[in-house]
Amino acid sequence: MGTDSTDGDGTRCVRAGLPEPAPGQPFLPGPVFAAPYHLDPRQGPAATPNGYGRPDNPTRRLLEAAIGELEGGDVRVFASGQAAITGLLLAVLRPGDTVVLPADGYFPVRAFATDTLAGIGVRVLFAPTAGPYPSFAGVRLVLLESPANPGLDVADVPALAAAAHAAGALVAVDNTTATPLGQRPLDLGADVVVASGTKALTGHSDLLLGYVATRSAGLLDPVTAWRTMTGAVPGAFDAWLAHRSLATLDLRLARQSANAEALARLLVGRPDVTGVRWPGLPGDPAYALASAQLRRMPGVLSFDLGDAGRVARFLAASRLVAAATSFGGLHTTADRRAQWGDDTPPGFVRLSCGVEDTADLVADVTAALPA
Ligand SMILES: *Cc1c(COP(=O)(O)O)cnc(C)c1O
Repeated sequence: MGTDSTDGDGTRCVRAGLPEPAPGQPFLPGPVFAAPYHLDPRQGPAATPNGYGRPDNPTRRLLEAAIGELEGGDVRVFASGQAAITGLLLAVLRPGDTVVLPADGYFPVRAFATDTLAGIGVRVLFAPTAGPYPSFAGVRLVLLESPANPGLDVADVPALAAAAHAAGALVAVDNTTATPLGQRPLDLGADVVVASGTKALTGHSDLLLGYVATRSAGLLDPVTAWRTMTGAVPGAFDAWLAHRSLATLDLRLARQSANAEALARLLVGRPDVTGVRWPGLPGDPAYALASAQLRRMPGVLSFDLGDAGRVARFLAASRLVAAATSFGGLHTTADRRAQWGDDTPPGFVRLSCGVEDTADLVADVTAALPA
């Protein structure tokens, strides 16, 4: 049924990508499981949008319409965020090209760049999300991640997009942490959005998903061709689960963000916790940019407890904070990132707020911290 431009976030989420109402039909049609579909014996695939499951799936198309309405662009969903991001990079970059990536962004993307992209002759430059950035002269693609995972710095997307475009470079923004309700990178000047839908977008910790969104046919076409050729598509059931979960995105983010604010204020006031980062905290280095650029603050924060032992004692003592990676889910989780071999300090924790009651979470974290 789609959304109006005047609709608020909750209305948009509930209606996004749904078919026109028809008596006797469900609000959201169930998943269509098919590898081949019946073809018209005379006209063949020209007569139907569905021929074969790798390029064509109606459940996937409804999800793409939904995310497209929220991002304000055309969307192709992928089997995971990594599939979407590496798909964009490999569809766009050629040997001899230069790409600028976030030095503090999602670690597997950086590892992919130094292993695979550099290996095929792409020049890989890294810049911290908060800057300074190198000259974009001769650069083909600038990938920003804002807010960055896990450090939560924020990039000035409009200014960087203007500078990149002046140099003839394309700009991609990883919108995983913000989600399209938190930030609309295409409206801020980006050419293309990449994201993991595994995190807050779908929010139930029950599926992997990624997507690419753009208003440029010149980017959508190679990305679509790439996905069809490599086959990095999500299954019908995952696509359906993701669409079902989108309806509550506005509600989930509201509670997660309120919980993050309460915990950030608690943590920043404690002498035994250092390096608290949450872009909505006045005094956070990213506060001014985030306030100008984000439509709402994320439910994720980060801080340092000093060493691995204290993080383990905190998590063992907490009743509501589960030790788990990923973020954006219904349950509050915390991840000591260094245990995955990334380049954060040993006591660095990324905490993802769930939708529990704020008072319960504050009481639980307060009780567990002295452990
Ligand atoms: C998780 C994540 C990814 C990768 O997504 P997957 O769905 O796990 O493949 C990419 N970018 C960011 C910022 C992420 O947090």
